[in-house]
Amino acid sequence: MKKKLIAGNWKMNGGLAANEALLRALREGLAQQAPACDVAVAVPAPYLAQTQALTAGTAIDFGAQDVSQHEAGAYTGEVSAGMLRDFGVRYVLVGHSERRQYHGETDADVAAKAQRALAAGITPIVCVGETLAQREAGETEAVVKRQLAAVIHLNGHCISEIVVAYEPVWAIGTGRTATPEQAQQVHAVLRGQLAAASTQADRIRLLYGGSMNAANAAQLLSQPDIDGGLVGGASLKAADFLQIIAAAR
Ligand code: 13P
Repeated sequence: MKKKLIAGNWKMNGGLAANEALLRALREGLAQQAPACDVAVAVPAPYLAQTQALTAGTAIDFGAQDVSQHEAGAYTGEVSAGMLRDFGVRYVLVGHSERRQYHGETDADVAAKAQRALAAGITPIVCVGETLAQREAGETEAVVKRQLAAVIHLNGHCISEIVVAYEPVWAIGTGRTATPEQAQQVHAVLRGQLAAASTQADRIRLLYGGSMNAANAAQLLSQPDIDGGLVGGASLKAADFLQIIAAAR
């Protein structure tokens, strides 16, 4: 059976002192109770070196929150997949709804970023999810299928090398979590779409994200097609994040 993955997305939060305190607390917690799942944190780019140093030799993997779709060159402010690899990055988020919404990322951009990550040996965590207006218009399935379709046939790579995160936009940072049934319904759709494209569909981890917390994690994670969580706010508090990790068996 595949191991679940609990990944924290710190977003644009943290600082040297706060990161160190958080990572030390996570290290101690996981040393006391070894996790049954894989654990990762996706940190702001300036803190990759710090995170690499503080997670070395621990059960904590780490990742970045974005990657350039270009290999190198005159792209001021961008960070390439090769640069991420230099710091031992294992995962990178691509297509987070905040990138799609505030930075105009298209499905084609997301696919190009995922492709760059894979070429550098980094696992992309591809985020998909509908807005509230799209859900209310009955478009949820069409939206997530379109977003997933963009990354399903990446050149030269097996689809099982990616992780997919379903994050309904209306559940992100709102305290309004999808019910386990709502989340499972969409995950089943995504699994079906992957199965139609690949015999490896069962190996792909489908994470749920959106107001996951210590109180609701166990129920969400017990759904048959929910293979982990992408955790925002609750990943900034060691005690909460450790409880979510403990719920992932
Ligand atoms: P919250 O857990 O804060 O709702 O954020 C979810 C998210 O966007 C993770 O990528």
